[in-house]
Parts: sequence; C-alpha cells; structure tokens
Amino acid sequence: MVQTKEFKAESKRLLEMMINSIYSQREVFLRELISNASDAIDKIYYKALTDDELQFNKDDYFIKLSANKETKTLTISDTGIGMTKEELENNLGTIAKSGSLAFKTETELKDGHDIIGQFGVGFYAAFMVADVVTVVTKALGSDTAYKWESHGADGYTIEETNKDTVGTDITLKLKENTEEDTYDEFLEEYRLQAIIKKYSDFIRYPIKMDKTSQRPKEGTENELEEYTEEQTINSMVPIWRKNKNELTEDDYQQFYTDKRYGFDKPLKSLHISVDGSIRYNAILYIPEKTPFDYYSKEYEKGLELYSNGVLIMEKCSDLLPDYFSFVKGLVDSEDLSLNISREILQHDRQLKRIEKNITKKIKGQLQSLLKDEREKYEAFYQSFGRQLKYGVYSDFGANKEMLQDLLLFHSSKEKKLISLNEYVSSMPEEQKYIYYAAGESIERLEKLPQTELVADKGYDILFFTDDIDEFAIKMLMNYMEKEFKSVSSSDLGIEQEESKEDAASNEENKELFAYMETILAGKVKKVKLSNRLKSYPVCLSTEGEITIEMEKTLNAMPNNEHIKAEKVLELNKNHSVFQSLTAAFDNDKEKVALYTNLLYNQALLIEGLSIEDPVAFTNDLCKIMI
Ligand code: ADP
Ligand code: MG
Repeated sequence: MVQTKEFKAESKRLLEMMINSIYSQREVFLRELISNASDAIDKIYYKALTDDELQFNKDDYFIKLSANKETKTLTISDTGIGMTKEELENNLGTIAKSGSLAFKTETELKDGHDIIGQFGVGFYAAFMVADVVTVVTKALGSDTAYKWESHGADGYTIEETNKDTVGTDITLKLKENTEEDTYDEFLEEYRLQAIIKKYSDFIRYPIKMDKTSQRPKEGTENELEEYTEEQTINSMVPIWRKNKNELTEDDYQQFYTDKRYGFDKPLKSLHISVDGSIRYNAILYIPEKTPFDYYSKEYEKGLELYSNGVLIMEKCSDLLPDYFSFVKGLVDSEDLSLNISREILQHDRQLKRIEKNITKKIKGQLQSLLKDEREKYEAFYQSFGRQLKYGVYSDFGANKEMLQDLLLFHSSKEKKLISLNEYVSSMPEEQKYIYYAAGESIERLEKLPQTELVADKGYDILFFTDDIDEFAIKMLMNYMEKEFKSVSSSDLGIEQEESKEDAASNEENKELFAYMETILAGKVKKVKLSNRLKSYPVCLSTEGEITIEMEKTLNAMPNNEHIKAEKVLELNKNHSVFQSLTAAFDNDKEKVALYTNLLYNQALLIEGLSIEDPVAFTNDLCKIMI
C-alpha cells in the first residue's frame, strides 16, 4: 500500500528554499548525503564493535557512489544502520532537531544563501539538484525494507520494498539542465571525485566509485581500451590524525563549519597531539561569538569524544572545566574503552588527565593570544570574559590562580582594557592598592564623584561594569600582593596632609552631622566630611565588605535577603553648598532638613540607585525654587 504524506510546515519551507535555490555551490548536496551516510555507518560500526552478537568485518563498511548517465540518476549507497518506517517519517519528514534552521531569523531564511553555505541543511540539500529523491532503506534488525520517495514540496510516499542488505540507497533523479545551470555535471566521474576530495576526504569509511580509465589493448600495438574499476576516492585520514603542517587554517575553519560547532568563524584553532603516558589527539576551537544560549541553563558544554576514531560521545562534559565551557572540538584517544558508560567515564583517570592537559593548553593558547594578538583576545574577551570571571568566583576561588592573568578590565587612564599585570606594573611606588569603581557603564563611572581624589593622585582606576566583577575581585582578594580597593570605600588608604585639619573640622561640625544623621536615620550610618571630593558637593561611600554595587546585584537576585551596604554620606567642605548648610544650621533647622534630604537623594542618583520617594524629592526641589 502506498501512502502519501505531507511534510511538516518548517520542512516544507526549507524544502521550497532548496528547490528554488540559486545557490551557486550546489555541490554541497553531496557532502551532506555523504556525511549522513558516514553517520549511519558510525552507528552500526559502534554497535558491531560493542555487541558480540554482531559479526564484525571492517570491509563491510563503506559508501558507494553510482552515476547512471542514461537515467540521469546518482545513487549514494551506504552500509549504515538504515531506517525503520518510523525513522523514515521522523527523520526525513521533519527537519532534524540538530538542523541549524531553528536559530535563524526569517530574513536570513529568505536569503537562504547564508545557511546553505555555512552550515549545510542536511538531507534536503538533495533537492537543490534533484526533482525526485528516492530512499530505499533497511534498518538493522528489521526484515522489511522501505522506499521513501518525494517529488518535492507536495509530500512524500512510503511503501514496502525489497532490499537484501542493511543500509540505505539514496537515488537522485537530477534536474534537467537549463540555460544557466547544468546538473548532469554531477554524473561525471572527475567532478564527483573533486567534490569528494574537497569536502569529504577525511570521512573514515571508503567512498567508492567505479572509474573508467584506458589501458593498452592486449594483442595490439597502440590501441587503447576502456576499463572500469572500483576505486576508493577519499584518503580516510581524519583531520585530527593528520600532520599539522599538512593542514592550513582554512582546513580547520572548514572542519569547524562542517561539524557545526558554531555559526561563527572560530577565533583560534588548536591542534594537539600528545604521545606519552597519556595519548590523545584533539582539535579545539575558541569561538569568536557567544552562542545565543551560552549564558543560559540550556547551554551544554562538552567535546566530542572518540576512541580510536570511533565516536563514543557527542558531548563529553568531563573534558572541559566550566570556565572554559566555550571551547568546541573533539578528543580522540586510543586508550579509552568503547564500552565506556557515562558513569564510568566520570571516574576514568585517563579522561581526568586529558582534561587537565587540555585545560593547560587552552590557557596557554589564551595567554599567547593576549600577548601576541591583542585584538583577537579582546574580541574573545568580549564574548567570554564573563565566563572567566565566573570561573574566578565559583568553587570558592579554587581556580583563581589559573584565571587571574586572563582577566581584563577597563582602565580609567588608558581608556581601554588592561590586564591586572599591566595595572600593577604601572602603579607609582607609593600606591598601595588596586583601585576600582563599580557601576552601570563606563560613561557613568567616568563621572562618579568618588573617583576624584584617586584620579587626582594620578592613580589608575579599573572600571567594573559587569555584575560579577566585584564578586570575582573579592574572591581574588589581591593580585601580586596588592589588595583591591573600591573608590567608594570609606577608607581609601591615601595619606592626606590635611587629615589633622579634617579631624578638627569634623569635630567642629559634630552637631550638624548628628542632626543630619537623625534626618537620615535608617538610610545612612554616618555623615562626615569627605577627603575625596574635589568639585562635587556630596557622595556616598561604604564601610565594610558590601559595596553599593554589590547591594544592587544581591538585591536583584531572587530570594534576596535585603542585604544593605553600610552607607556614609560624605560632604565636600570646600563646596559652597556646605557653607549654606552650616549657615542654615545656626538659624533654620527646617532648611537643614530640606538640604539633607536633597543631598542624600542626589547622592543616590549619582550612584545609579533609585530614590525611595520621588514625589517628596520633587516637592523638596520646588521648595528651594520659591
Ligand atoms: P542531520 O544529519 O543534521 O541529523 P539531516 O537532514 O542530514 O540532518 O538528516 C536527518 C536524519 O535522517 C539524520 O539525523 C538521520 O537520522 C537520518 N538519515 C539521513 N540519511 C541517512 C542515512 N543514509 N542512513 C540512515 N539515516 C539517515
Ligand atoms: Mg546530515
């Protein structure tokens, strides 16, 4: 019985895109079909290696291309695991979940060019070159074979058929040539061979093809005869087993794209071959762009894990520490057992050693990027710097030594990102601390009154604009024996010549400050004269561990415990506002209360905090205008 079914909606859309494709590199359809064939063989190969019931013979696994010029068909056959009827429907009637389509916007889809070129679109790519696609397949362990056939977007049919061996034959009835496009080129041996070499050379199984050549005809002088012989076209050496100097940066980039490790171009690739007490090959990539789900729970870190060329796990998370979770790639080790399960794997010593080794190499790579290719490193840091800072903070700072030299922060003096090392190296001798200011944005921090004294001293200030920054720094505690200090902390550690005089002035204004403290009860802990303000009348500083920025971050978290920073209201005694305050204190307490509230609210605004009662604030403002 023949059943006709419709494609699922998105599949239909993708299919239409393929059918009408004006994409010039249609040849990639072959890469897609060969890679599917190879995946299918991987599955049966793995089963055969690990299942004693199955006979194992390496020669049984191959891919074969057959072109027929009379019928204008090209068939790609594999001895892979095949598909059941359900699998045919699920896999070919719907876009595979792994399909890159889900991540693309509507306009990018319309354009089409981009996704086909960069990521391939899998099975449906066949419709770029064929009017009719026929899949004949028999699944491992099944007695029945099925034929799936589609003439394009209208739908497909499935019926029972005969096939002796397990595996899949995909036959493409090529489109007719048009004035602009030729399709029968995909029946020519030399063309097929070139495409295989270009895209599929390192497929692990032989890709065979009948090739016609000429040879001297026996019993004649110089007559030639044609003969046909089956040949293996691909070299079958996986890229990670090749010699580094045989490979170009393009090869690595192509592999990244083929493997769909990311939608970007990798920033850096790393090819590792270790031969010693641990043996493994790895190709690792540092991506350039943050994957859209990177900073979400959905993101899963991990590397592909191969054992002697056989894929045993698609995402082995034990191979990467969390702080390097952005790294993509694969590891192949001869020493791992094929039968390894996830549980065993976690305790596998070999794997732990590989992880350690990889981690070191990644760090080394990042360091040399920082040293020699600063721009690239900054691009990387833009995307993944936050992860490194989380790494410093998490596990109670266990990895801080590993990561501290990879951190960058914006420098108030240099007006660009600098490392901690660079900061400390250019510190004047008398400077005791590494100063930082935390806030929403660089622009805002540049205007922060609290920075005035530190900046005046000629000291550099690191600007922290990520929520995590201050927490990470608290975990570091110090760098090269220099402690970190917030410019808002009440004690800046800067010796002041006038400090004696300050003490006297504080004493002199004791009553004023006490009065102001009662006005601001519950809001600030203390009111005092500032020795950091130069041109602004007022600012907030904090005593103790919790700074205002940390308070903001902590209180933005769910189930927060309403942690409060201990705030100090600092006044600039050289500002005329202060003179107005002292003058009013002698004869108009109500005015002092009004000024106190206004100054406090101003300080809140400068800090980027919100005013508790904006109506009262604007009323206060009006009062001083009339
Ligand atoms: P992807 O390879 O990214 O999963 P494709 O569109 O290329 O997406 O293929 C869809 C699915 O169809 C595959 O995941 C696989 O399950 C199945 N498939 C395709 N070709 C074959 C084949 N030759 N043998 C067995 N299964 C196949
Ligand atoms: Mg595929």
